[in-house]
Amino acid sequence: MPAEEEKEGVSMARYTDAKCKLCRREGQKLYLKGKRCSTTKCPIERKGAVPPGERPKRRPSRLSDYGVRLREKQRLKRYYGVLEAQFRRYLRKAEKSGDDVGTVLLRLLETRLDNVVHKLGFCWSKNQSRQLIRHGHVLVDGRKVDIPSYNIKQGQVVSLSAKAQGLSAVQEARDQIPNEAVPKWLERKGLVGKVKRLPEEEELEGNFDVSLIVEYYSR
Ligand code: SF4
Repeated sequence: MPAEEEKEGVSMARYTDAKCKLCRREGQKLYLKGKRCSTTKCPIERKGAVPPGERPKRRPSRLSDYGVRLREKQRLKRYYGVLEAQFRRYLRKAEKSGDDVGTVLLRLLETRLDNVVHKLGFCWSKNQSRQLIRHGHVLVDGRKVDIPSYNIKQGQVVSLSAKAQGLSAVQEARDQIPNEAVPKWLERKGLVGKVKRLPEEEELEGNFDVSLIVEYYSR
């Protein structure tokens, strides 16, 4: 397991393991390195999703039922950069909601401010969006919010501080990430974004099977 750390109130999700190893372990691109992930420098583009420390195999090894559920849980956590304790809190909240647990869980993750800033195309990765947020560069309805796990609500407007708007990485992302890449539940005009509505389950990337994750925790 990678070393993990978390500080009170603010998710300090940071894996010290090499980010590309996490993608290879989960067998898919998790887009943890920003722009590089969309180029041929991505090792999965070059060599396929070979687990770290292993050579390419003709046939992938079969996982037990437990292993399948564990991998799906790890894949979802790593995609959103969420640590175990926080992930369990999301799950408990979803279970208490009275609605479909899977949909509520995915919405809680998808509407995290760090994810929204990234999906709006204000930067290349969730790591960059977390940095922008922690440094006080992200505004929600005109007020600074420096908590990456803050859950954004329908109708709220996300923008960047004047200083962040001048950063070359932000300008590059704005110019190179097309509006078509922004999910339909969000709207982007320049460096201002709006949450038009909450995302539907089928709009979420990654093809996660949340039922496997719920089964993992209910065993
Ligand atoms: Fe994952 Fe990005 Fe590394 Fe590719 S370049 S393996 S998508 S972190």
